[in-house]
Amino acid sequence: MLKTLITLASICFFALGLSAQPANGAAILARKQVPVICYHQIRNWRPSDKLADKDYIIPPATFKTHMKMLADSGWHTILPDELVDYLTKGRQLPAKAIVLTFDDTDGDQFEVARPELIKYGFKGVFFITTTNIAKNKHYMDKLQIKQLFDEGNVIACHTQDHTNFKKYKDQDWEIQIDKPTKKLEKITGQPVKYFAFPFGEWNSAGLPELHKLGFKAAFQLSEPRDPGDPIMTIRRILGCGYWSAQTLDYNLKHDFGRLH
Ligand SMILES: [Zn+2]
Repeated sequence: MLKTLITLASICFFALGLSAQPANGAAILARKQVPVICYHQIRNWRPSDKLADKDYIIPPATFKTHMKMLADSGWHTILPDELVDYLTKGRQLPAKAIVLTFDDTDGDQFEVARPELIKYGFKGVFFITTTNIAKNKHYMDKLQIKQLFDEGNVIACHTQDHTNFKKYKDQDWEIQIDKPTKKLEKITGQPVKYFAFPFGEWNSAGLPELHKLGFKAAFQLSEPRDPGDPIMTIRRILGCGYWSAQTLDYNLKHDFGRLH
């Protein structure tokens, strides 16, 4: 009898202990993925644009059809805090939750994407490469970044100058991630908690550095997630310039509809 009680007590303790822990990698990987779309430049194609570049350049008219399709299909944008709470603690999300992300500080994200987001009540995540801030007329300046933040969007780190994460050593962590993050925090006045890998490229060896620097999550592109650290390798798909709204709709269902 005593033995049974002890066993029961230890099972309860074990269960309580488990629920108090953040989710481990396997638990995160087992959850259905929330679609995350990644946009870059939003402008009309030029004759000089190479074929491969057009994955990263979406004409404004096409971008607008993407946003309209998402709104008409009942998608709701969520922000990384909600996504992380869902992945680590099982927080309830709206049915059709999606994350919209924008990389590289392009000015047309402010000029073209922002009004579309506002039109549909969407919020986005802007991954800023700090060397691009006000670099020329094609990039956002500090005031625009602050305005996006004040309007409820998330400002996040996309390195100092887009150097590949796999190459970082010694001072690079400070130059490419820590200093740019502090620069963004100065602009917004709030902690910057999220990171996106340049080119979507990452290696497992570097992931502990992101934890050390205080990031809550990091975003890659479409590779499999790191089984030991899926929160630092959240998948995104490119919102390709070639994709009609129907293609995007199909890919949201068929890419993020399955587990990776
Ligand atoms: Zn980038």
